[in-house]
Amino acid sequence: MGQPQTDETCQCVVCGRESVFRFDPTIITPQLKEAWGISDRLAEAFNRKESMFCSNCGCSLRIRRLAAVLMQTFSEISGLSCKSFAELLENKEFRDLKIAEINACGALHSYLKDHPNLHYSEWLPHTEPGEVYAGVRCEDLQCLTYSNNFFDIILTSETLEHVPDPGKAWQEIFRTLKDGGYHIFTIPVLPSQPTTVKRANLVDGKRDNLLAAAYHGAWGSENMFVYTDFGMDLV
Ligand SMILES: [Zn+2]
Repeated sequence: MGQPQTDETCQCVVCGRESVFRFDPTIITPQLKEAWGISDRLAEAFNRKESMFCSNCGCSLRIRRLAAVLMQTFSEISGLSCKSFAELLENKEFRDLKIAEINACGALHSYLKDHPNLHYSEWLPHTEPGEVYAGVRCEDLQCLTYSNNFFDIILTSETLEHVPDPGKAWQEIFRTLKDGGYHIFTIPVLPSQPTTVKRANLVDGKRDNLLAAAYHGAWGSENMFVYTDFGMDLV
C-alpha cells in the first residue's frame, strides 16, 4: 500500500486562488473496489483523482485537469494563455465559442454557466431528448438533438462509461462538432485492465447484465450504473 495521500496547498487552475486541496479517501466504495478488482494503491489514486477538492471553488483534481486541458486547447487555437479558468471566462474570443457541457462537469459548472454560448444538458430517465425538465435541457449522448457541425467544444466528464453504447455517443459527438472542433473529456480508465470490458448492454430498452451490476458514487443509484469499464486499449 502506498503512502496515504494528504491535503496539499497550491494555486488552483480554476479559481486562480491559493487553496488547500482536501483529500477524501472514501469516494471509491468498497463495492466498486471489489467490482474493479483493484489494489489499495490504485483505489487511493482514484480517490485522489476524485477528491483533492479546492477550498475555494470546490473543484476536484479531475475537474481541474479537464479545465487545464480546456485552457491549453484554447491557448493553441488563439495563442492567448490565461492563468486560471476564471480569467479565461472573461475572454471575448472564448465567450464566442459554442460549448456543450453534457452532464455538469462538477464544480466547474458554476463557472461554465456564466458562458454566454454554453449549451448545458443532463441525462434524466423518462425524458425525451431535447426536452426541458425543471429548467434543465435533457439530452442523450447517443441521439443528440443538436444540428451537424454545431459546437466548437464538447465537454463530458466521467459520463461515457454510463452510456449503454459509447460508440454511438462518439459518433454523435463527431456529428455535432464543427470541423476542427474538440471533444475534451475524462473517462475512468483501469490501468490494471489491458482491454475494455462491457459490463452490460441495453437491448430493446432492457438492461442485459454481463457482469454483476456496478455503480460509481452511491451504490445502486441508477444514474450511476456502469455499462463499460474502459481499459488501457482506450489510451
Ligand atoms: Zn479553486
